[in-house]
Amino acid sequence: MSEIDDIYTSIIMEHSANSTNRHELECENCSLHGHNPNCGDDITLHIDFDDDKIKDMSFTGSGCAISQSSTSIMIDVLRGKTVDEAKKIVKIFIDMIDRKEISSEDRQLLKDSIAFSNIANMPARVKCALLSWKTLQQKLNEM
Ligand code: ZN
Repeated sequence: MSEIDDIYTSIIMEHSANSTNRHELECENCSLHGHNPNCGDDITLHIDFDDDKIKDMSFTGSGCAISQSSTSIMIDVLRGKTVDEAKKIVKIFIDMIDRKEISSEDRQLLKDSIAFSNIANMPARVKCALLSWKTLQQKLNEM
């Protein structure tokens, strides 16, 4: 168990320290802003849609290690997905954080974002982990 926790921690630290997803994107009206006043996390997602597909995504902004790494990992997981696929994966991630039952098939779709499965044990960090996912979910639901 603690070995798994170590792997998760290293995934989270790697993404927060050194994310290749942290940059602007050249696309018009493609920015989404999310703010978590509890912690001061402030993230802007840049999403380049190609019809109903997420062609590319990146982020800029500042905040704690959890919010930054959760955003970076979300981008890795969702890049290239269709809007419907992305909606499904975002919902599975939020369900996982809410400690709902998820099937092993659904867990696979989460890829590295499974690293946040124990974040519910740290209630103060839950909003940090969810910030980008909920910001994106709002946009996807409008599409
Ligand atoms: Zn935070």
